[in-house]
Amino acid sequence: MKKIKLIETAFRDAHQSLLATRMRTRDMLPIAEEMDKVGFFSLESWGGATFDTCIRYLNEDPWERLRELKEHIKKTPIQMLLRGQNLVGYKHYPDDIVRKFVEKSYENGIDVFRIFDALNDIRNMEYAIKVAHEQDVHVQGVISYTVSPYHTLEKYVEFARELEALGCNSVGIKDMAGLISPHDTYELIKTLKEETNLIVNLHCHCTSGMTPMSYYAACQAGVDLLDTAISPLSWGASQPPTESMVAALQNTPYDTELDLKLLTHIKKYFEEIRKKYSGILDPISEQVDTDVLIYQIPGGMLSNFVSQLKEQNALDKYEEVLEEVPRVRKDLGYPPLVTPTSQIVGIQAVMNILGGERYKNVSKEVKDYLKGLYGRPPAPVNEEVRKNIIGDEKPVTVRPGDLLQPEFEKYREEGERMGIIKKEEDILTYALYPAVAPKFLKGEVEEEHLKPPVENEACETPSGVPTEYAVDVDGEVFNVKVLPVGYMEIESSESIQAPSEPVEGGITSTMQGMILKLKVSKGDKVNEGDVVAVLEAMKMENDIHAPDSGTVSEIFINEGDTVNAGATLMVIK
Ligand code: MN
Repeated sequence: MKKIKLIETAFRDAHQSLLATRMRTRDMLPIAEEMDKVGFFSLESWGGATFDTCIRYLNEDPWERLRELKEHIKKTPIQMLLRGQNLVGYKHYPDDIVRKFVEKSYENGIDVFRIFDALNDIRNMEYAIKVAHEQDVHVQGVISYTVSPYHTLEKYVEFARELEALGCNSVGIKDMAGLISPHDTYELIKTLKEETNLIVNLHCHCTSGMTPMSYYAACQAGVDLLDTAISPLSWGASQPPTESMVAALQNTPYDTELDLKLLTHIKKYFEEIRKKYSGILDPISEQVDTDVLIYQIPGGMLSNFVSQLKEQNALDKYEEVLEEVPRVRKDLGYPPLVTPTSQIVGIQAVMNILGGERYKNVSKEVKDYLKGLYGRPPAPVNEEVRKNIIGDEKPVTVRPGDLLQPEFEKYREEGERMGIIKKEEDILTYALYPAVAPKFLKGEVEEEHLKPPVENEACETPSGVPTEYAVDVDGEVFNVKVLPVGYMEIESSESIQAPSEPVEGGITSTMQGMILKLKVSKGDKVNEGDVVAVLEAMKMENDIHAPDSGTVSEIFINEGDTVNAGATLMVIK
């Protein structure tokens, strides 16, 4: 009899999908030992966006979290999601950083490495897979699933064979928005079982509403592992509920043989957690959103657009942006929409619509993407668009990681000079997040306070419509208040005191974001078009140019500051 095993995502993907990745370690530990008793294949607990939010918003050391979880979870393997050469960041890191990161993750408690690349470019995964294999772990190679004329069953199977050839123990199908239909699930899983010797795992989100059906089709096709989330953290943008899946498969050939009573006990704990965090529960990600079936845009991205467009007072352009996304995706050769390509495509679509002209403004990431620096696009890119953006420059054909020089020792030296390194892991934290980590490692990040639960009546209008929302922009939460006159006010938790009134000669920020680099000092002479600062918004780097030539007479920002749209950054006279 074939037993299906479940991967529980409560500690990673479930709260990343519903609670902006904000669950604290202290809310995980009290239930960890009970979860360890269930008999899950693994507990996905680390990686993905958890690393970033820990140091950016929670004042928690992600390495410490991992060690504490390991102390409580003795039997069940602890799993992490690793973005191939991107690790837990948004760009490629050199091999020496990849090696150190994987080794340290293992040393601190990771037993299962789930490794993916947004473009399914195996060259971006092979080094991480190799180093993971050198540890005593289970290595899962992942297919980022999407739907396009180029993503055929044959291509997916071919990719799975490459993963098998690299020695992966299992293959995961990562379906970020629940796009896979029950029929396609059956075909894909059956073929993977026939054509490879790999353990096959299906990982879907419920966004499209089809997922529980697809999970059953997967069982019929011979799937080995399914990802679920304990029910209070399930549905919507998260995984199907664990208890329901256990019950649905009971007394069938796919029985998980897990104890429903024990799960119900665990569920009670998470009901309280859900209540505690309901202030940041994003209403968009809580529900099924069938728009995803048309636009293939995962739920998290939709809330990005709403918030981006509100900031620009252009919410009326929402539909246009939605329609622009598939066009940009096609121009870029149909990348699956997952970090970081979801942000790259999404922000370009917003820029194309707001700029009034397609590709008039192009982010650094789109340029790099077209230069091949993210890897090989799944399908040919639009040649006209490429020519327009990078001219005659030839895209690189080598493995992108080969273009990067070793950096670990450089960060060690720099970090030590700054006095922020207490353990080797701190060097990695700094290397991955050079803009955010110093503040965290110096102990200057304050834990973001939890908003009161939404049941709080003060937040409701007489009609019962909530007046305050926390809108999640890909892991970053913005507090949005609906004012009585009916317009939206967006506030950021930590904004600088830059003048928001227009200043003569002032350069203003067009987007809310963080100042990644400040390239000028007071008194510097600049020419029209010079890059004076780099703004990170939605994890994209956007150059800010001097509109005129002159001298920098005033600077209101520092690197690391968060600025609102319209804030004056500096004055050039
Ligand atoms: Mn996921």
